[in-house]
Amino acid sequence: MSTLALLGGSKVVTSEPGDLFKWPIITAAIEKRVLEVLRRGAMSGTDVTQEFEKAYARWYGMKYALGHNTGTAALHGAMFGLGIGHGDEIICPSITYWASCLPVLSLGGTIVFADIDPDTLCIDPKDIERCITRRTKAVIAVHYCGMPCDMNPIMKIARKHKIAVIEDVSHAHGSLYKGTLTGTIGDVAGFSLMSGKSFAIGEAGIMLTNDRRIYERAIAFGHYERHSTLTLPDLKAGAGLPWGGYKYRMHQLSSAVGIEQVKNYPKQMAEIDKSMNYFWDLLEGVPGIRAHRPRKGSGSTMGGWYAAHGLYRGEELGGLSISRFCEAVRAEGGSASAGCNSALHLHPLMNCVDVYSVGRPTRIANLPRGIDVREKRGRLPVTEGIQERVFSIPWFKKYRPGIIRQYAAAYRKVAENYRSLLPGDNKAKTVSGSAGLSARR
Ligand SMILES: *Cc1c(COP(=O)(O)O)cnc(C)c1O
Repeated sequence: MSTLALLGGSKVVTSEPGDLFKWPIITAAIEKRVLEVLRRGAMSGTDVTQEFEKAYARWYGMKYALGHNTGTAALHGAMFGLGIGHGDEIICPSITYWASCLPVLSLGGTIVFADIDPDTLCIDPKDIERCITRRTKAVIAVHYCGMPCDMNPIMKIARKHKIAVIEDVSHAHGSLYKGTLTGTIGDVAGFSLMSGKSFAIGEAGIMLTNDRRIYERAIAFGHYERHSTLTLPDLKAGAGLPWGGYKYRMHQLSSAVGIEQVKNYPKQMAEIDKSMNYFWDLLEGVPGIRAHRPRKGSGSTMGGWYAAHGLYRGEELGGLSISRFCEAVRAEGGSASAGCNSALHLHPLMNCVDVYSVGRPTRIANLPRGIDVREKRGRLPVTEGIQERVFSIPWFKKYRPGIIRQYAAAYRKVAENYRSLLPGDNKAKTVSGSAGLSARR
């Protein structure tokens, strides 16, 4: 048994990471293209963006791509594109970045939160049907932290109840669900392309769909400068001013990066995927921790592994708290931290804030009197307990087995020596009859 670094032993991660984690990777071709746009003074406008849209749509094999200045805007456009409006409901997991759902409030709609699956961390298809009402218009399938949602049952439920599916692919560019690219399965998809994401081109977002009406409605909503391209009579009749009162066009320096990134990304993604899978393969069978990735041979993949996490099962480690576990991994030179996005349904904005001054909380302001969709604490048990069940892992951009082995060894060492951490762990959970109890005596 080796002494943990947290308790005075020596660290297992000893190599310097260098550019192992550097992202995005800026090539000379990207610099050249950005400079060209800059020198031409074409930062506004849409010519570069349209070239990027074509390349992105071609990569995904989709008919229409519409560049936006953020992923939030792309999702807003997708919601309006579907015709979601006053008094409508969308179903969304509570564990996600807020932009998956909050834009619906400004359309006069509201959100019903569904629970997540404890292993995929994505919306639990089994919880969707109980969230459906006469007012439900769409389900938001967020491919969370790279993991594809279980799309087959989601699509089946949606078709049965005649509701739309919006995919939020902001964490999962290039990921596959049973061999099919995520973002091509639902009715419309929104992607963040901001610099922290796996497909990173600046502050930017993009919407993909095969539905001409969704595409044109999104143009009507936030892209008045492209209204001359509208073909649907009801939309053309209102052309010239953005229906949403929003200006959502993409910054062309981002579009320029995007044109090159579409070429670079598949190869970069493959290297990330190889590195991350290698890391998890090394940890197969280690107690207390599980990979957050699809089963091998399922045809599903993690894309660029944005915000990669692991699943924590403290009951296998004598009740060791996740915060103490992560602290010990960090002491070994690793980079674990506990938890993920906070549950949205418990936030004051979702419960009491009256954003638009109508005299009722915005969450229920446009629902029929007497109808309240706000979830009571306890309604979403997996969601509410998830902060103790997940931890972050390093996001390797390069396949360097030597150093990846050191990072994996940090997690393994802590998990295998958990007993030595229990005495100083004031948040440990009592596990009856476990090794943990005896170790604490
Ligand atoms: C980042 C993100 C967004 C919003 O994208 P921005 O480009 O930051 O506006 C939407 N959904 C999810 C799940 C995200 O992580």
